[in-house]
Amino acid sequence: MDSRLSETSREKLEAWLRYYDDLNLGDFYTDRRIMRKRSVKTPAAASENRTQAIPAATAAAIPAAPVRILPVVPAPSLFEAVDRVANDTLELIRENLGECTRCRLHEQRNKIVFGAGNPHAELVFVGEGPGHDEDIQGLPFVGRAGKLLTQMIEAMGLERGDVYICNVVKCRPPENRKPEDDEVATCSPYLYRQLDVIAPKAIVCLGGVAAQALLKTKDPISRFRGTWFDFRNSKLLATYHPAYLLRNPNAKGEVWKDLQKVMVFLGLKPKKSSR
Ligand code: URA
Repeated sequence: MDSRLSETSREKLEAWLRYYDDLNLGDFYTDRRIMRKRSVKTPAAASENRTQAIPAATAAAIPAAPVRILPVVPAPSLFEAVDRVANDTLELIRENLGECTRCRLHEQRNKIVFGAGNPHAELVFVGEGPGHDEDIQGLPFVGRAGKLLTQMIEAMGLERGDVYICNVVKCRPPENRKPEDDEVATCSPYLYRQLDVIAPKAIVCLGGVAAQALLKTKDPISRFRGTWFDFRNSKLLATYHPAYLLRNPNAKGEVWKDLQKVMVFLGLKPKKSSR
C-alpha cells in the first residue's frame, strides 16, 4: 500500500493539527521509539505500577524528539477572535487608555505616544517604544530614527500620512532601555486593539521587541526577519529597527529587501528618483 498521504488528506490533517494547536493542546506528537524507551518499567516499578525515571546517561543517548511537526506560525486563533472588542474605534481605545498608570513606565513619561497616521492604512509600522523626542511631542518616530523611517516609507512610494505608526509600549522607557516583559504585557492589548481596528493588510515590525511581542516568541529577529507570518487578519513581517540601521548602515540593504517584499505584497511602486 502506498503509505504517502494524498494532497487532500495531508491538507485535512494539517488543518486538524493547526486546530489542536489553536486550542493550545500542546505537542501531542511524540516519537514512539522514545515513548517506549522512556516508559521502560523495572520489575519493581511494574509491580507498583510506576514508571522508572530515565537515567541521565540513557536520556542523553535518546535522540531529541521532534517536538512539533508543524512550523510555528502564529495564525489567528480562536482565543484571539474572542479577544476582539466589538465596535471598537481608535478614539475609544485612546479614551480607555486615559492617563494610564497601569505600569511603572508612567512614572517618568512626559506624554503618552498613542500612535499616528491613517486610521484606514493598509500598512502599519510597529516600533518598540517612544524615545526622548517622541516623549516630548507625544508622536511616534519623530527623532533621528523617525527621520530614517520617513525616508524608508517614501522610498516605498508612500507618504508618512498614508501609513499608521505606533509602538509596543506607549510610554518612554527610562534611558531608552528595552521595555520589560510585564510592561509589554500590560500595554500590548491596546496595540492589539489598534491593529484590529485599523485592520491593515500588512504590519511591519521594526526591531526585535515589536516582532517578539506580536509573534509571542523569544527568537532573535535575525532568525525570522523578512519572513511573512499570519497575524490575526493581517500579514506581518519583521525587519530591523531604524535605530539599528543608524548604528549599522550596512544592514540597510537587508531592510530594503524586506520592504520590497512589502511593496510587492501591497502592489506599491518605488518612488521615482527626482534626478
Ligand atoms: N523608536 C521606537 O521604537 N519608537 C519610536 O516611536 C521612536 C523610536
